[in-house]
Amino acid sequence: MEEAFHRERWINTHSVYQVSVIDALMQGVMEGVISIRELLRHGDFGIGTFEGLGGELIVWGDKAYNCRDDGTVEEVPPEMMVSFAQVTCFDRFAPLHRIEGIGSTAELEKKLSDWTLEDPNIIYAVKGHVEAADAELRSIGRQEKPYPTLVEASKSQKVFRRSGVTGSVFGFLFPKFMTNVNIPFWHFHFLADDCSCGGHLLDIRAESMNLQVYPIFEHVIRLPEGKSFSRIRLYDARDMEKAMKDVEG
Ligand SMILES: [Zn+2]
Repeated sequence: MEEAFHRERWINTHSVYQVSVIDALMQGVMEGVISIRELLRHGDFGIGTFEGLGGELIVWGDKAYNCRDDGTVEEVPPEMMVSFAQVTCFDRFAPLHRIEGIGSTAELEKKLSDWTLEDPNIIYAVKGHVEAADAELRSIGRQEKPYPTLVEASKSQKVFRRSGVTGSVFGFLFPKFMTNVNIPFWHFHFLADDCSCGGHLLDIRAESMNLQVYPIFEHVIRLPEGKSFSRIRLYDARDMEKAMKDVEG
C-alpha cells in the first residue's frame, strides 16, 4: 500500500492533476468533486478552492490548508470537498534560484519569465520563499446555492494586507491555449510559515525570493459529475481571459 502510494507520487512529478476546469468555476459550478483525502493522493503541492468556495486552498506536504475569509488559516479535514484545484508532486530537485527586488506580483511574473518564456506552450509550477515581505491577500467566503458566478462571488472577497511576513508562494502558470481549462497567467497563493495568514496572492513586495520553478508536461483533469456541470456551455471561451483577470487580479 505504502509502496504504491509513493510510486504514484513519483509518477506525478512533472505531472499536474487538476480538479474541474476554470470555466466551470467561473460559471458557478462550485459543487465538491473530490475530497481533500483524494486530492492528497495526487500531489503534495497545489492550490485551489472548496465546495461553495469558502476559502483559498493550499496543499503542501501531507497537509491541506484553508485560508478563510476571516483571515485565519486552518488545516483542512480530509472529508472536505474540493470544487477546483491543481496539485503536482513538488520537484525538490528543481534548481534553486534567487531573485532580488520584487516590487509587485507583476514584477515577480516578469522575473519568472526568465524561465518560462523559452516555452510558452507548457505548464509551470513555482514555489518561492520570502522573508519580511509585504503581501496583499484575498479570500472569498462560502457561497450558498444556487451558486453565483465567480465574478459575482468575488464581489464579497475580503482583502488582507500583511507586512513583515515570512512564508511561501505557491504558483502555477498554464499556457494560453488552455484558457478555459485553467488560468492562462500566473496564479499564486501564499502561506505564512507560521500559518498566521494566507490566501490568494494579489500583490507582494519582498527584498528577495528563493525559488524553484519547473516545467510540467503532463496534465490529468478530473471532470465534475452531475447536472450543474453538464448543462453549462464550456466551448465558448470568448472574453474568458478578461473575466479571469477581473477575478484573479
Ligand atoms: Zn486563487
